[in-house]
Amino acid sequence: MDEPIVINNFIGGVMVPCQDHIDSHDPSTGLVWAKIPDSGQAEVDAAVNAAQAAFEGWSCKSAQTRANHLLKVADILESRLEEFAVAESRDQGKPVWLARIIDIPRCVLNLRHFAHAIPHHLNTSNVNPEMGVVNYTLREPQGVAGLISPWNLPLYLLTFKLAPALMCGNTVVAKPSEMTSVTAYMFCKVLQDADFPAGVVNIVFGRGPSAGQALITHPQVPLVSFTGSTLTGKFIAQATAPMFKKLSLEMGGKNAAVVFDDCDMESCIATLKRSSFINSGQVCLCTSRIFVQKSLFKDFLEKFTAVAREVKIGPPSDKDVFMGPLNSKPHLEKVLRYISYAVEDGGQVLCGHGVEILDLPPQNKEGYFMRPTIITGLSDKSRCMQEEIFGPITCVTPFDTEEEVITRVNDTPYGLCASVFTSNLARGHRVAHKLKLRL
Ligand code: NAD
Repeated sequence: MDEPIVINNFIGGVMVPCQDHIDSHDPSTGLVWAKIPDSGQAEVDAAVNAAQAAFEGWSCKSAQTRANHLLKVADILESRLEEFAVAESRDQGKPVWLARIIDIPRCVLNLRHFAHAIPHHLNTSNVNPEMGVVNYTLREPQGVAGLISPWNLPLYLLTFKLAPALMCGNTVVAKPSEMTSVTAYMFCKVLQDADFPAGVVNIVFGRGPSAGQALITHPQVPLVSFTGSTLTGKFIAQATAPMFKKLSLEMGGKNAAVVFDDCDMESCIATLKRSSFINSGQVCLCTSRIFVQKSLFKDFLEKFTAVAREVKIGPPSDKDVFMGPLNSKPHLEKVLRYISYAVEDGGQVLCGHGVEILDLPPQNKEGYFMRPTIITGLSDKSRCMQEEIFGPITCVTPFDTEEEVITRVNDTPYGLCASVFTSNLARGHRVAHKLKLRL
């Protein structure tokens, strides 16, 4: 077995070892493959001090100079795409091909997009000749931004936060998820190789309630950007509100698909396979409730179940695998609990976990795998229809009319995204407009 990678914090442009570590497991084998710093207040204080010290120099640079720094980082990252894709796959569990075509190219794009776009959107003015006035708005950098990101799209979402914060002239302290910290650590090396000004980006690794909480409540961090679960988002909103921080929250979803009987069924099923099971259902936009018009319901279920049974599950390095493992053992256990809830609530498991056998190579037997699972027969108020599962489970239910399905889709505290399958363009727009996307 390889020795685990030992990760350091990145503070003031240098790698700083931490005394205590958290084990990080390769989800496809269950073996420890990285040791993550278990940072706390002291490490966060050091990182915030470094970011504060770098703020004046960075915020006074022209937007073009900041953009040039980001573009250099993007070029180096792109030149190491394969290395990053392999590491992201091993750390998170997604197939290498997926990290190669989505995650890492998107990180490069995030850096390039904000480097090019933000210089044109920083300031606005409004000329009012009748009143003889010109109003203008200057968007000023705030200081040190605290960035908290989740484990499902590790470097993708981290760069999606870093790039705009930096381009607006802020310096940052980021805390990636303790479940997936390896590519963020590799990214620190890219920053060094790009001669990125020291202290402008600092990355502190560790758990949410210790490192994360120290960061979001830090008095010298006036703005916080968080992506993760709704529960943590609620906590962060409550903790930062009395401190009057600027706050951005991106949270969970319970995304619905509405399938009308005039849709192109073949393409609808291919899309729903992807939207339900990509990244093992661990994307905030994954479909987890499918409402199918009654006349199509039986046929749809048969075809969709057949497609789900064909999904290839296995080691993420295998190029034919569509679904790798889930990210962690506790998360797999949580997702599987929802299948028990479904059975308790009167649902039928049509395919997937507990129905078909999961055949894995010997080295993956302890990995966190499960089969794509389709459940039907649940009431709209059941736990599987109301709560975010964040795994490869999707629930299918019939409906009669357009009005009925709109009410039923909107009957959850979540939202985030929804899809409508129909060949009637007017209906597509009308229904989409009425689906409420909360949180
Ligand atoms: P999570 O809320 O458990 O953790 C997210 C991050 O918050 C991690 O870095 C964690 O360490 C940190 N954290 C936890 N407790 C904290 C605290 N008390 N103070 C500060 N930081 C704390 O979420 P997760 O399980 O990592 O991610 C999955 C969730 O993210 C799902 O709900 C998914 O829908 C959501 N998500 C949303 C989007 C979006 O754009 N809306 C995108 C991706 C993921």
